[in-house]
Amino acid sequence: MSNNPGFDCRKDFPILERKIHGKELIYLDNAASTQTPRQVVDTIGAMYFTHKANVHRGVHTLSMEATGLQEAARAKVADFIGSPTTEQIIFTRGTTEAINLVASSYGELLNEGDEVILTQMEHHANIVPWQLLSQRRGIVIKVVPITANGQLDMDAFKSLFSPRTKVVSVCHVSNVLGTINPIKEIIDMAHRHGAVAVIDGAQAIAHIKVDVKALDADFYLFSSHKMYGPCGVGVLYGRKELLEKMPPYQGGGEMISHVSFERTTYADLPYKFEAGTPDYVDIAALTTAIDYISGIGLDRIAQHEHDLLQYTTEKMLQIPGMRIFGTAPGKSAVISFLIGNEHHYDIGLLLDKLGIAVRTGHHCAQPLMQALGIEGTVRASMAVYNTREECDNFIAALNRVASMLG
Ligand code: PLP
Repeated sequence: MSNNPGFDCRKDFPILERKIHGKELIYLDNAASTQTPRQVVDTIGAMYFTHKANVHRGVHTLSMEATGLQEAARAKVADFIGSPTTEQIIFTRGTTEAINLVASSYGELLNEGDEVILTQMEHHANIVPWQLLSQRRGIVIKVVPITANGQLDMDAFKSLFSPRTKVVSVCHVSNVLGTINPIKEIIDMAHRHGAVAVIDGAQAIAHIKVDVKALDADFYLFSSHKMYGPCGVGVLYGRKELLEKMPPYQGGGEMISHVSFERTTYADLPYKFEAGTPDYVDIAALTTAIDYISGIGLDRIAQHEHDLLQYTTEKMLQIPGMRIFGTAPGKSAVISFLIGNEHHYDIGLLLDKLGIAVRTGHHCAQPLMQALGIEGTVRASMAVYNTREECDNFIAALNRVASMLG
């Protein structure tokens, strides 16, 4: 394997051979969803064609095989993020459901007037569940501001703590600014104030080595579709003592120990939080996605993406009128930008005509857009299969778009 995983792994992603409007596809919308390698799709096929049967409910061979594959995925995830046990790994539909689970269930343990600290750079998925909780239980939401280059204002952060602070919920990496937050420092700070730390790892998990034990995170959550895995699966890691005292999130099959009309007792972890039939097909395929990432190595992936980020940013800044939002040192390979006062939508549409897939809009971060004083941005985000050649073509396309828009 060469030092550039981008070139080596492209053959695993047939979608990258597509043409869009007659042009080679350049896929730079990886922060929204990464593409899925053939190996992961093969696992999905094998699950459907060879092992499909509902999990945990049968003594027959197929059911036991499917159950074994689902539980192997749980062990794989636990190992990947350094969870001390598999019972602390709960499968959800994604990051959004995982945050809703924590806000709803851990939220039941909070009282009116208790405080939750969020930050100005959160995705709506880490804002709205807490607002819903606030409406139900009268908790108070406090918001950490950001600095001019898109970092958390850590002095302001410290000043927001009070004896009523019970939860700090922060993204590991901003999906708009690419800022990598100092989450170890944040988690330690939360603990010193007797609060729990919820870390939204949606934008970190495929780019940074995560060790929940070393971080001492209380909750860490992420989505499979952003880590070369299938859609429809997410992970909630939780500290065991907390998960044990939290009430179930949803009721139904699988999460019970015994049911009568008078009283129901609940299953042990992790099943207490996994009501109904899980997406065991895609959960099994998540194992393959993790093997895929580990096979290349997160360090190599990070190095490659960093190289592309530096290379592209330098060239972008030579384009007249270029405005990049988020310039924190050591940031992740996410570039949000505008050209002059042109509308993000127009830039995105013209780039699409040139075969380039970028995201436009508020990126589910409207409060951040308000803080930046804009409606939206264009966002280019890199992954392991992107290449310098693609970045050159992206820059050439940007120059064309800039001159077309005048
Ligand atoms: N949090 C962050 C930082 C994100 O970037 C995203 C998705 O873009 C989410 C949460 C929500 O993830 P999902 O839609 O997979 O639940």
